[in-house]
Amino acid sequence: MGGGLAGLSLGVALRQREIPVTLYEAGSYPRHRVCGEFICGRGIDVLHALGLYQKFVAAGAVEARSAAFCTNGRHYRPKELPRTALCLSRHTMDRLLAEEFQRLGGELLQRERFSGSQFSAGVVRATGRRIETHPKRIKWIGLKAHALGATLGADLEMHFIRGGYVGLCRLAGGVVNVSGLFAVTGPVPQLASRWQEFLRGPVGSALHERLQGAEFIEESFCAVSGLDLRPAQAEKAPECRVGDALTMIPPVTGNGMSMAFESAAWAAEPLAAYSRGESSWDESRLAIARRCDAAFARRLRYARWLQWLLLHRGSRGVLLALGERCDWLWRAWFQKTR
Ligand SMILES: Cc1cc2nc3c(=O)[nH]c(=O)nc-3n(C[C@H](O)[C@H](O)[C@H](O)COP(=O)(O)OP(=O)(O)OC[C@H]3O[C@@H](n4cnc5c(N)ncnc54)[C@H](O)[C@@H]3O)c2cc1C
Repeated sequence: MGGGLAGLSLGVALRQREIPVTLYEAGSYPRHRVCGEFICGRGIDVLHALGLYQKFVAAGAVEARSAAFCTNGRHYRPKELPRTALCLSRHTMDRLLAEEFQRLGGELLQRERFSGSQFSAGVVRATGRRIETHPKRIKWIGLKAHALGATLGADLEMHFIRGGYVGLCRLAGGVVNVSGLFAVTGPVPQLASRWQEFLRGPVGSALHERLQGAEFIEESFCAVSGLDLRPAQAEKAPECRVGDALTMIPPVTGNGMSMAFESAAWAAEPLAAYSRGESSWDESRLAIARRCDAAFARRLRYARWLQWLLLHRGSRGVLLALGERCDWLWRAWFQKTR
């Protein structure tokens, strides 16, 4: 269930093992998704293992080597990324994965919601974010649009503003991904006409200045709400889950896509064993859950702390100033959230 990155890459991994797969996707391709489009961490190794890395590059993915942070009117010195990242529009990425899945013989049903039971044997849930329903918890919305005409000081710029952040990431062809996460108190009226206010940041901010001469590509705008950013343990889930459906890492880390690819890679072998009759469904489901928990638990803990520190004005300045001066500290944040 779900043809986002987790569902499609799992489908590709299973088809490479000649396992029959039917994938239900509620939407269709190509489409824009709310995402910083910055792939970083172990997911890159999964892309290599699945033979997808070169396909992404051929489709226009560009490498990112530097990151810079801005807050409270201050630009911190750009830092070299401890590991090169890969940046590609989701409009291209999801379509490419869907085509690869079909090329390998997978059955892809678009504009079709899975109507069976998600708890049945052989059903994997890759339906994306879990929805936050608690009335008292912070409500997060995510917005994304592509822009032309913005000149960045690093391949990735992170601008922290009151109640959230906006990331600017270089894509191919002079396009810049502008995406952000914002804490809101309730529904945002007229978001369809006001989204640029959010993405451009407050007048006078470094972000606003950066995007002064930039023009947004209107049709690339997309939004998502109700994000549940609390870590979840796979072993406690009643069904088999991968990607954001399992747990969502705070987007400020830029590691969600990597976790979608990684969880798909962890799931492929136990699912293939189930399909070949070598293990029961419960054995396979638990093996996947344990692998994901072992791989993600520490990362999710650090990411939660990092998001908290970065989104609070008092701690953020101290943290960024320390990171600017101490290379080992910058490397440590980077490694521990990946
Ligand atoms: C503001 C923001 C910025 C981000 N920036 C980055 C970044 O720079 N780098 C990074 O690595 N990650 C980033 N992320 C996270 C990243 O986008 C997600 O982690 C990633 O998309 C998860 O992939 P997925 O396949 O689990 O879910 P999705 O990509 O959301 O796919 C889920 C799919 O399931 C489908 N679906 C849902 N329900 C059903 C159903 N019942 N039947 C059939 N289909 C269904 C949906 O249509 C969708 O296509 C960001 C997230 C946000 C909110």
